[in-house]
Amino acid sequence: MSDKHPQCCRTRYRDWRQQRCRYRGVIQRDGKWYCRIHDPEAVARRVDKSERQFTEKTEAKKRAAAVANQGLIDEATADLRRQLDAEKAKVKRLREACKGAVETIKDWHGPAAWDIYLNHAPEMRLITAALAETEKTT
Ligand SMILES: [Zn+2]
Repeated sequence: MSDKHPQCCRTRYRDWRQQRCRYRGVIQRDGKWYCRIHDPEAVARRVDKSERQFTEKTEAKKRAAAVANQGLIDEATADLRRQLDAEKAKVKRLREACKGAVETIKDWHGPAAWDIYLNHAPEMRLITAALAETEKTT
């Protein structure tokens, strides 16, 4: 080992104990010699690369999880929308049937009796309220 390139100043853990790095110092930083492995800048670059890879991997996993979650949410939303549409269609059919029944009852009563029946019969109050409710929801 020449004076120009002394041994690397760092230690390594070998054979169950700390030993001086056996490689030649090839880079001098702040007056100390380092091998290519222990060069502080090379170490920093490796740490940066490792952190960057870890972050990229973590971000990719997060993105994949978010996509999967969004897929589940979209699927559940579409399912609920189909259920809601089916319920709305059912309510619409019931409303039309109820309106038809009210028209028939109106014809049976004749105009004078109809006003009394419409405004005083408890079942007509319920039917009128229910029809008004279905107008809001469908
Ligand atoms: Zn070294």
